[in-house]
Amino acid sequence: MAEKIRVRFAPSPTGKVHIGNIRAAIFNWLYARHVGGEFLLRVEDTDLERSTPEAIQTLLECMAWLGLDYDGEVMYQTSQREHHLAVAEELLAKGYAYKENKGGQGECVIFRMPKEGVIEYDDLVKGHMKKKAKDTQDFVIVRSDGSPVFHLANVLDDITQGVTHIIRGDDHVENTFKHIQLFKAIGAPVPQYAHLPMIVNNAGKPYSKRDGSAFVGEFRELGYLPETLFNYLALLGWAPGDDREVMTRAEMVEAFDFAKCKASPARFDMKKLTWMNGEYIARQPREAYEAEFAKRLAAAGLPAEPLNGHLGELLDQIQPRTKTYADIPGNCRYFFEEAYPFDEKAVAKRLKPEGTAELLEEIATAIEALPDFSIEAMEACIRAMGEAKGTGMGPLVHPIRVAVSGKTEGPGLFEMLWLLGRERSLGRLRGVAAKLRAGEL
Ligand code: GLU
Repeated sequence: MAEKIRVRFAPSPTGKVHIGNIRAAIFNWLYARHVGGEFLLRVEDTDLERSTPEAIQTLLECMAWLGLDYDGEVMYQTSQREHHLAVAEELLAKGYAYKENKGGQGECVIFRMPKEGVIEYDDLVKGHMKKKAKDTQDFVIVRSDGSPVFHLANVLDDITQGVTHIIRGDDHVENTFKHIQLFKAIGAPVPQYAHLPMIVNNAGKPYSKRDGSAFVGEFRELGYLPETLFNYLALLGWAPGDDREVMTRAEMVEAFDFAKCKASPARFDMKKLTWMNGEYIARQPREAYEAEFAKRLAAAGLPAEPLNGHLGELLDQIQPRTKTYADIPGNCRYFFEEAYPFDEKAVAKRLKPEGTAELLEEIATAIEALPDFSIEAMEACIRAMGEAKGTGMGPLVHPIRVAVSGKTEGPGLFEMLWLLGRERSLGRLRGVAAKLRAGEL
C-alpha cells in the first residue's frame, strides 16, 4: 500500500496572518483533501516575542474562518526543543556538524554542507532545481545561546510529523537546498517539495501591505466572504485548466493538481477578488445575506426598516449588486434616511447642467400624473418623454437617479423609484430642483 500523504501548514504566528501564508495553507489543504491524505498544523512558535498566545489565537481563528480544518493535534515547535538539541548532538558526533566560537559569544553548532557536486531535487511546481555545492555555505543549526535554528527545527519536525510533501512559498527555495542535506544527514527520506509562486502587485513586485489589504483579518473586516478569499487565493498559482473560476470547495478539491500549478508570479488583483466576492454574495442564502445586511446597517447607525418598507424587494435588488458587505450602508443609505449624501462628481455631471431643475420638475409632474405608480408605467412615461424631446431616455434617467439617491449606481432606476415610493420620489425630485435653483447643490 502506498504511503499515506501527509502535508502540513507550518506558520510562524506574528499576530496578523498574511495572505501569502494562508495561500500556502490552502494549497496544502486542497492537496491533502484531493489525495485523501492528512493536513497537519505545526505552529513554529520559536520566536517567543512574536508568537504570543494572542498571535496563535488569531492564526487559529483565521484558519477556522476559512474552513481549513486540520487533522490530529497541533504541534508546537517549542515542545520539540529537547529533541532538536539531541539530534544536533548526534550530527556533531557523526561529523555532519562542528562547533565554532562565533564572534566570541560562545559556541554554536554548524552544519557542514558538501563542498563539491550539486544538490538537486524535482519541485512539483518549479520543476528540476539544482545548486552547485560550492555555491552553498555551512550554516548554524544551534545558536550560541543553545537555541535550535529554524532549519534544524523545521526539518526535524517534518520528520517527526511524517510529512511527505512540503508545500510552501518560494521564498523558501534557498532553504530547501540546506534542508535536503539535513534530511540526508539525519537518514530520513527527503520529502517532495512544491514551492508556490510569489504573490505580486500590479508592478510585479512582492505584494505587501502597502499595496492594500494583505492580512486575512482585514478582508474579513471589509466584508469579504471566507468562500471568496479561499477561492481567490486558491487561484493564485493554480487553475483548474478550464474556464472555471468561481468554484465550490468540493470542485476545487476534485480538480486540484500540481501539474496545473504555475511557477510564474501570481498577481494579486483586488478588483478580481471584489468581483468574485460579488458572485459569492449573490449566491448567499437570503437569510444569511439579510442577517449581515441588518448587522451592517445597525453598525452604521441606520434603522432596520427602509423609509418606504418593502425590505424584501429592496434586498432582491441589492443582494446581487453587493460587492462587499462593508459597502452596504454607503450604497443603501438613501433608502433608510432622508438625509442622504450626494456624490460630488455625479452632481457636477448630472445635476449642474443648465435646465436640470426644470427637467426634474417636469419629470415629477409627469410621474405624479400617472394613474398607476408601477415600474412599467414609470418606464413607459420616461421613455415617451425622451422620445418627445428627441433625446432618448439617457439624459432623463441619469439626473433622476442622482437626484433621488445621490449616486450613479444602484438598482434599476424604476425599481429604485418604486422602492422609495411615489411621495418620497416626487419630494426628492422637487427638493433637488429647488436646491439647484437656490444654488445649494
Ligand atoms: N515557519 C516557516 C514560515 O512560515 C515555515 C515554512 C515552511 O517550511 O512551510 O515561513
